[in-house]
Formats: sequence, C-alpha cells, structure tokens
Amino acid sequence: MREGLLELFQETYRELRPGYAPPELKIDFYAFANVNNTIRLRNGRLLVRLSDLLEGAPEAVLRAIAHILLAKMYRRPIDPAQSARYRKYVGSHDIVRKAHLVRQIRGRKLLRSARGHFYDLDAIFEELNTRFFHGLMARPRMSWSQTKTRRILGHYDPAHNAIVISRIFDHPAIPRYVLEYIVYHEILHLKHPVRLRGSRRCVHSAEFNAEEKLFPHATEANTFLKRL
Ligand SMILES: [Zn+2]
Repeated sequence: MREGLLELFQETYRELRPGYAPPELKIDFYAFANVNNTIRLRNGRLLVRLSDLLEGAPEAVLRAIAHILLAKMYRRPIDPAQSARYRKYVGSHDIVRKAHLVRQIRGRKLLRSARGHFYDLDAIFEELNTRFFHGLMARPRMSWSQTKTRRILGHYDPAHNAIVISRIFDHPAIPRYVLEYIVYHEILHLKHPVRLRGSRRCVHSAEFNAEEKLFPHATEANTFLKRL
C-alpha cells in the first residue's frame, strides 16, 4: 500500500471527529470499472476501497477522497473545496486513460493547444511522466500560451488543472531538453501542491528543489535560459 495513506485517513478522521480514536482501518486499491470508491464499517473496522485510478494521485487528492468518504460515513458536511479538488483530478485522469473519449468531449481543442508548430506538449508530458514519474502522473491540460511571453516561462494552474508553457519555446532554436526542463518544473508543481507552512506559502519546498535537481540537464538548461 502507498506509504502514508493510512496516516492520511487517520488524520482526516481526527479532523472530522475530534476526540474520537480512529477505528482500525483497511485500505485497498481496486480495479473498479469506473473511478469508484467505497467505505464500509464492519465489526468496528473501516474498510476503504479506492479505485486503482487514484493510486498515483497527489496527496491533496487522496486527502480529498479521505475527507469525502469519512464525511459521508459519519454524516458530516462535505467541504466543497475538497469535493471540487477530487472531481477535477478524476476528470483529468479519466481523460488520460480514455483517449477516445477525449476527442468526443474536448479533444480537438485540447490537441490544438497542446500541439505547437515544433513541439507537442502532450507528448513531452508523457515522455517525462515515463522517465521520471513511473507514468503515475495524471496528465493535466497542456497548452501553449496565447502570446510569446518571456516573463513567465511556464505555469501550473491548479484551478484549471492546466500547464501552460510560453510559446517562445515552440521554436526549432530551442533544444528539446530546455523545453523538457520547463515542463518538468511545472509537473513538479502538480506533484507538490503548494502548502501552508505556518503563515508562509511554500511554493518551492525543499522536496521540490531536491527533485528538480534530478533532471539530468538542469545546469545546461538554466544556462540556456539565462541567455534568452
Ligand atoms: Zn516554480
């Protein structure tokens, strides 16, 4: 089982039912036909079944589903922010898994914005996903920026679950590894959601920075970017 998942459910339980000790918990991932999650109480034991589509989900998403399931179980109000976070993730994940549906729902638009003149952002995302993330990241909406901005090279927008990359990189003079480095950085934002540490908003955590250094051409890429 995924590390820390049990603790995450226990923490969520304590938030919803302060003063109560969490019961024994059993959490399994199941290959449901849909993104389906269930919770049952049997002989004082909480049995949680999560869809295997959530196995690679970011911690914030697992926290959201823990909140939703436990709130339902104990008839507590569901925090709309948590339910929105969960739905957004599942929406994006479904689209990744069921490529044929993408075309029917919003595919054409999505493809047009991800595919530039020289580089295809969806393809770059998938390649990085395989190389660095065991293919576990759910692909967000990838798109080139409308304008050729130099001020912002790339941006992850959690509200729309989208990665936007400046169009200046869609050019044959840009080495592929430089574009990959920019996209890699944004994928790390997807992987390490911004958290509150005290009152400080921690955008690039120590964990984030350590993982960013794993990119093989980080130094060359930074040198190239400084000369842009
Ligand atoms: Zn950043």
